[in-house]
Amino acid sequence: MDNKDTKKIKGVRIRTINYSMILMASALYVLIIYTTVHLSLQYKKLSEATDTYIESVRQANLVTSASDYLTMKARLYAVNKDPSQVESYFTEVHVTKRREHALFQLEKENASPEAYGYLKDALEKSEELMRVEIYSMKLVAVATGQDLESFPQEVRDMRLTEEDRALSNGAMLEKAVKIVFDVPYEDAKESISYNISRFIDTVLESTQMRQIDSSLTLKRAMERQRLYISLLFVLNILNFVLVIALIVKPLQVYIRCIKEDRMLEISGAYEFKYLALTYNDIYEVNAANESMLRHKAEHDALTGLINRGGFDQLRQLLKAQKKPIAFLLIDVDKFKEVNDEHGHEAGDKVLKKVASLLRVSFRSKDYVARIGGDEFSVIMMDTTPQMTELIREKINNLNWRLKNPNDGLPQVSLSVGVAFSDTGFTDNLYPDADSALYQVKENGRCGCDFYEDYEEE
Ligand code: GH3
Ligand code: MG
Repeated sequence: MDNKDTKKIKGVRIRTINYSMILMASALYVLIIYTTVHLSLQYKKLSEATDTYIESVRQANLVTSASDYLTMKARLYAVNKDPSQVESYFTEVHVTKRREHALFQLEKENASPEAYGYLKDALEKSEELMRVEIYSMKLVAVATGQDLESFPQEVRDMRLTEEDRALSNGAMLEKAVKIVFDVPYEDAKESISYNISRFIDTVLESTQMRQIDSSLTLKRAMERQRLYISLLFVLNILNFVLVIALIVKPLQVYIRCIKEDRMLEISGAYEFKYLALTYNDIYEVNAANESMLRHKAEHDALTGLINRGGFDQLRQLLKAQKKPIAFLLIDVDKFKEVNDEHGHEAGDKVLKKVASLLRVSFRSKDYVARIGGDEFSVIMMDTTPQMTELIREKINNLNWRLKNPNDGLPQVSLSVGVAFSDTGFTDNLYPDADSALYQVKENGRCGCDFYEDYEEE
């Protein structure tokens, strides 16, 4: 459409809205995906913190039970002198190694340095106690004369003090029991438990800190998630509203206009307005063409008057309108002779002259038609028999002008039959006017007759 109006079209383009919506929705989806990933990471952190705590407590308990196990074995040996206790003791120290494993695991679990420090202290204390326990074993082994070669290296390497070596076997055994049961030993044990419980407290504190931190982040991420989802919802609703306002509504309006066969109301998005303006342009051209065609179909090419087809339609129309009318049937007298004597071309000119004289002689609301070769008709609207004289005057005037030409055309005259109706174009109006015309022709032509007159005669 090269219509200048297109340049003036104002409206949101569907394309622009579409792209914006896609862009905004994509951005929101990316944010939602990002937040979801973030959320699951935070959740993982949260559960990891709990797992770390549980694992740390388990490892700390292992250290305690391993340490208690060593104490128990050392004490049992000091009391019942059964070397199998020593064996069990060193199996724990060299093979089972629960304390070392616990420390190793905790290092892996990333326990805080502070917590790790407590456990290390506990382990160091435990190592110190081991020296006391091994010393006690050595005392027992020496006092009971057990074969030292069958004892582990640590026991063999342990050196008794001069003072203890000088003790009697009984005193040695007594001392062996005493050092694993006395107050310093118990204090050391106490210190181990204290360090372990401090370790558990510290781990608990840091776990709680991590949990608080993670749950705060989790809460914020969830709030963001909710916001994005709400925005996405609003965007969706906006999309629906825009689709209705810019696409669905205009389509409904356009369909209604098309059904009612009228120009489209310009509405909706830019694309729809463009379509509507294009349609309207085509509609206007079509309407103009149609009216031109209709005019051609209903009008006579030679005279420009309503033709036979148009006249028939008019008759139908005026049949329904029950108005008083006069119908004039007009025939050119001896027109054949005009053609014969002056040629067909002159005949045509005469017909055109008759047409234009008829047109100017009657009112604009009257209908003048050419219904045959040299046959014309006039339908005078709102006309009653009271106007008979006026009609006669008009015809006489016409005939005078046709008989006294000043344009070089041959003289002609008209015969006119008139019939009236109070109720529109009745079926008998044409035959009545025709009868009147016949009378005029019979009576020597050039004049008019009225159907009523003829009836009365
Ligand atoms: P009357 O007085 O009895 O009417 O005699 P008339 O010679 O006029 O007879 P009639 O009305 O029957 O003849 C009409 C003639 O008009 C016949 C035809 O050759 C001629 N005619 C019809 N259409 C045209 C036209 O378009 N142009 C011309 N020049 N002549 C036409
Ligand atoms: Mg004639």
